[in-house]
Amino acid sequence: MRKTCKLCKHPFAGRSDKVFCTVKCKSTYHQKLNIATRNTTRNIDKILHRNRSILLEIMGKNAYQKKVPKFILDKKKFNYSYCTGIHINKHNKMYHNVYDFAWMDFSSGEVLIIRRNT
Ligand SMILES: [Zn+2]
Repeated sequence: MRKTCKLCKHPFAGRSDKVFCTVKCKSTYHQKLNIATRNTTRNIDKILHRNRSILLEIMGKNAYQKKVPKFILDKKKFNYSYCTGIHINKHNKMYHNVYDFAWMDFSSGEVLIIRRNT
C-alpha cells in the first residue's frame, strides 16, 4: 500500500499502521513536538516550581500543616493562578495542589498549607 510520510510527505510502502517513511522522520517529528511543547510550557513550569519553592520555604522540612497570613505568600510573589490540581474535601472546601503541597484560603485572610502524602 502506497502511503505519504507524515513529516516529509514522500510516498512510501509499508504496513498499514506505519506513518513515517524512515526512523529518522519519526524521531524528527517527535523531536519537533517536544521542542514546541517545551517552549510553551517552560514559563508555566517556572511558575509552578517557584510556587512549590515558596510553600517549601514556609513549611520547612517537617511541618505537616501551617496557617499563615496571605500577605506572606503575596510578598513572596506566590502565583495563585497556577496549580497542579484541585481537591475538594468532604466539607466541600477546595484545596489547590502544588505538587506534594496544597493550599486553601480562608475569608480571614489566612492560607492553610498542607503537605500531601504522595
Ligand atoms: Zn519521511
